[in-house]
Amino acid sequence: MILCSNPKAQYLSHKDEIDAAIRRVLDGGWYILGEEVKAFERQFADYIGVSYGVGVGSGTEAIHLALACCGIGPKDEVITVSHTAAATVAAIELTGATPVLVDIEPDFFTMAPDRLEAAITPRTKAIIPVHLYGQPADIDPVLQIAGRHHLRVIEDCAQAHGATYKNKRIGSFGDMACFSFYPTKNLGALGDAGMVVTGDKELARKASLLRQYGWDKRYVSNVAGWNSRMDEIQAAVLRVKLRYLDQDNAMRVRLAQIYEEKLCKNEAKLPKKRANSTHVYHLYVIRSKKRDELLAFLKAKDIGASIHYPVPVHQQPAWEKLPGCDKLPVTEQICREIISLPIYPELAESNAQRITETIMAFTD
Ligand SMILES: *Cc1c(COP(=O)(O)O)cnc(C)c1O
Repeated sequence: MILCSNPKAQYLSHKDEIDAAIRRVLDGGWYILGEEVKAFERQFADYIGVSYGVGVGSGTEAIHLALACCGIGPKDEVITVSHTAAATVAAIELTGATPVLVDIEPDFFTMAPDRLEAAITPRTKAIIPVHLYGQPADIDPVLQIAGRHHLRVIEDCAQAHGATYKNKRIGSFGDMACFSFYPTKNLGALGDAGMVVTGDKELARKASLLRQYGWDKRYVSNVAGWNSRMDEIQAAVLRVKLRYLDQDNAMRVRLAQIYEEKLCKNEAKLPKKRANSTHVYHLYVIRSKKRDELLAFLKAKDIGASIHYPVPVHQQPAWEKLPGCDKLPVTEQICREIISLPIYPELAESNAQRITETIMAFTD
């Protein structure tokens, strides 16, 4: 069986270094928010090109914390997309604010900036563009519109570690940016972890207070925080894997090239790449009018393709009737056609070839 993603293969390819890093933490005796987390925050913020990183419990929590740091709460509205992981919307709801959904660009599957103005109301406080599948959202127009309306921009970078837009890494554009290190992400831990990054010292300070009960000094809560901390073990593992992130992303790009070369004559629509940006292929998503049949065909041949995501957020029972939900035709259309092919750095090129041959056999 060829899996759609394979975090175990990634562990095995760096097993000795990861095992040594875990052992170092176990023997050190300090297990949460210690020297490993501090070092990883520094290294990851440097990698993204921002001044501050604050390690937290998950990607969802990173978004929740970032919104809270910007003072967003009940009665506020936050604009994002419906075509994303449920986590983006769940994090907005955790603050008590109302998620407002806008449609996506049909070519790139990311937020359509020309839909923003119509979604802005006097209650709007922030916009969360999502860099989906490894491809940057069109961030410049989002920043311009946010500037005109005095809104915060919080980037959801959970699927695009290392991707660039106009030669700058995503995560360095918004007031704050949020990363997930869920095991299958381009940079993945061996458990849950996330990070908020920002160039703003005060926002970074606030994030580091909120993630631990609002403690300024130990046992003294000056603001009402909660618990969203990063483990030392996860930070130690992530420090090892960060060293390989560019190399791993290059492998994903290589596999995407194989798919593109072999499938360009197929009826399936291949992902388009935005000019002036790099795509790090967290997922390789094609479109087919016969998506469900293709998925079943691949499965019968032991190929674990998948769908991200089969049901858009606004059609999920938990989130029906969110503002904007009646104006999402592109989102609804592509959800019926998208299929994610296996892609991860350890996927053998011969297996990528086999996948393309199987897809060609399906259409013949
Ligand atoms: C994975 C993901 C998240 C949430 O991250 P968790 O670490 O699972 O909480 C948020 N947004 C997007 C786009 C994601 O893919």
